[in-house]
Amino acid sequence: MIIEIDQNRLNGDIEALAAFSDAEAPAVTRVVFSEQDAKARACLKERCREAGLATREDAVGNTFARWVGTSAALPAVGTGSHVDAIPHAGKYDGVVGVLGGLEAIRALQRGGFRPERSIELVIFTSEEPTRFGIGCLGSRLMSGTLTPSAAAALQDPEGDTLEVVRKRAGFSGSLNEVRLPENYYSAWVELHIEQGPILEREGISLGLVTSIAAPASFRITIEGEGGHAGGRLMPGRRDALCAAAETILAVERIALGTGAIDTVGTVGICQVHPGAVNSIPSRVQLAVDLRDTDAARRDKVLREIEATCNEVGASRGVSIKLETINVDPPAQSSPRILAALTAACEHEGITFRTMVSRAYHDSSFIAQIAPIAMLFIPCRDGVSHRPDEYSSPEEISRGVQVLARTLASLSAGRES
Ligand SMILES: [Zn+2]
Repeated sequence: MIIEIDQNRLNGDIEALAAFSDAEAPAVTRVVFSEQDAKARACLKERCREAGLATREDAVGNTFARWVGTSAALPAVGTGSHVDAIPHAGKYDGVVGVLGGLEAIRALQRGGFRPERSIELVIFTSEEPTRFGIGCLGSRLMSGTLTPSAAAALQDPEGDTLEVVRKRAGFSGSLNEVRLPENYYSAWVELHIEQGPILEREGISLGLVTSIAAPASFRITIEGEGGHAGGRLMPGRRDALCAAAETILAVERIALGTGAIDTVGTVGICQVHPGAVNSIPSRVQLAVDLRDTDAARRDKVLREIEATCNEVGASRGVSIKLETINVDPPAQSSPRILAALTAACEHEGITFRTMVSRAYHDSSFIAQIAPIAMLFIPCRDGVSHRPDEYSSPEEISRGVQVLARTLASLSAGRES
């Protein structure tokens, strides 16, 4: 079977979707359950219907568009990604996996293919944590990684709960029904931009993701004692920021200390109270992000950071409290799906290499309920989450080509 990707049409779809934005072009801002998000969803559903796919939505707005196979009762083959975009982002993050997935299906249809297993395109709700503070909301619920009651209680910056906001956006029904039944997918593949520089630098067309790093994030609150910066003498001070400085450097030292290239630790936020030049800092909040492809190694780093916090607290006479925000598992790709991707690349004569995803994706959570793999395409300078995020139509096309051939092989259909 010859698979021909309609590059112009796909590019047109990407441009059309980018117009649903609360930021001026080329920036894209599309926060979950906003008016622009609703318009983008409507546009996508229309295109799925045009392709003859049967669409449905669950109670949190995850959207499923199914090309029904000849053995419709068999577990399906899934593909897809997200279309929400953080403020002032670009057009490709997530979108390439959704519109690319759709074009892969259309290309197979044009090629006269008939899938045995159904092929299902998924548009996940809120992969980005912008509104509710937690990423991959839709896929966490689908996989049972997040309980419906915990999800319902999540609040946006306005203080509205997910329960209220989703219903206002037209998604009723019970969140209890979002979780997918066991054996729903026999295989899952997500196409995504790399969001890193490796493929472009090495001049390689595609990345086959063998594992997705396990993220953990937590908040550290340090309480010391404030006072007048002049009146209060140095001996006996309990300066919360000095304790924070030691803690930040400890995070760096401990993450480096594993000696593993895949261990990364970052303190991305440091809030100082009261934040005046003539006042000793009395309270500091730090936000820490830890990632690793090996969950045990990451958890060991977490415990070491905790122990160091206790030491710093004791030696400086301050209280240091550590609160977990999320601790997620790493995902390993399925050898069977990687083999299908490899065969597809070889068949199409497209260069590829294996790689690790250090960013997490909806596939991290789908991995809890199905065999998964991801396929990366290069993006210019490795830039993502910025208006100048860019992948060329040719690069996207190559990814879709391999995705289509992989979906064909995983769905075990035949040409008619
Ligand atoms: Zn993404």
